[in-house]
Amino acid sequence: MNKFNYFNPKSLKEIWELKEKYPDSWYIAGGTDLMVKIKNREIKPSTLISLRSIPELSVIKTEDVISIGSLTTITDLINHTKLASLFPILIQAAKMIGSPQIRNVATIGGNLCNCSPCADTALPLLVLEARAILTNSKGSREVPLNEFFLGPAKSCLNQTEILTQIHIDKSSSNFQSTFLKKGRVRMDLAIASVAVLLEMKEKTCLQARIAAGSVAPVPLRLYQVEELFQNSIITSEMIKEAQKIALNSISPITDVRSTDVYRREIIGVFIKQAIQELLG
Ligand SMILES: Cc1cc2nc3c(=O)[nH]c(=O)nc-3n(C[C@H](O)[C@H](O)[C@H](O)COP(=O)(O)OP(=O)(O)OC[C@H]3O[C@@H](n4cnc5c(N)ncnc54)[C@H](O)[C@@H]3O)c2cc1C
Repeated sequence: MNKFNYFNPKSLKEIWELKEKYPDSWYIAGGTDLMVKIKNREIKPSTLISLRSIPELSVIKTEDVISIGSLTTITDLINHTKLASLFPILIQAAKMIGSPQIRNVATIGGNLCNCSPCADTALPLLVLEARAILTNSKGSREVPLNEFFLGPAKSCLNQTEILTQIHIDKSSSNFQSTFLKKGRVRMDLAIASVAVLLEMKEKTCLQARIAAGSVAPVPLRLYQVEELFQNSIITSEMIKEAQKIALNSISPITDVRSTDVYRREIIGVFIKQAIQELLG
């Protein structure tokens, strides 16, 4: 492993000062993705700036807009009873991340900023239409999460910005939703995953939001599939059509975890399974 400077600032102001002094530095949160990349020599940062000692980055506020600090660990997310009752799909996905040891240090912000197509919290947050709050010394901007991911390991964060909070409207808690994930073994990154949220009025689906993971360069909203269900009574023919549209919307690859063919297969099965589960 290469040598690097390590700083543990106690305030955002200190972070901006360090970033100005070391423009090529990397931010580190839990380090569960970053340290693996350093160990595997995929990246060789000369300086790391830790975000872990900034208390305001770990705060969760449950007002009309729910605000989740980016440094909230996956364990703290799971143990937050109010969040669990508002957005069970987020907790469902969080519980499937790694092992207890990983969840104790891994953060929700790191899961998003690592920009892996298989990031487990990305899918529920996409269907909850979450927004990312990006901050640097000049101020903050709000980016819809579906515009945050630009490609594998690539987000719209600029060199100086950090993800400070994730915002979700409380109104998204009124909908039924579910998350399905397939790994090779119980503790594994997703071979493929799906999140589905339905807004129902009696038997009519007013709105569907669907996202798929590990089947494109970014965690993906399947807008064309969603349109099919809008203001409709969902039938089994429609679900078959949705599976077809989904397969045309994704571009899975073959890698060490799975083949593109198997990934396609799972997405089709998961869409059907998730919708049937939500329709009861
Ligand atoms: C054994 C193991 C199992 C795993 N299992 C899963 C799994 O099942 N599902 C899953 O989704 N992931 C899994 N992961 C991946 C990883 O644990 C998660 O992605 C985790 O949430 C990353 O968070 P972190 O705080 O450790 O990020 P870090 O490693 O600290 O950072 C990741 C990246 O994000 C950047 N970053 C972090 N926070 C911020 C911020 N606030 N602002 C700007 N940039 C930031 C860092 O610079 C870095 O590039 C696993 C990892 C391991 C080692």
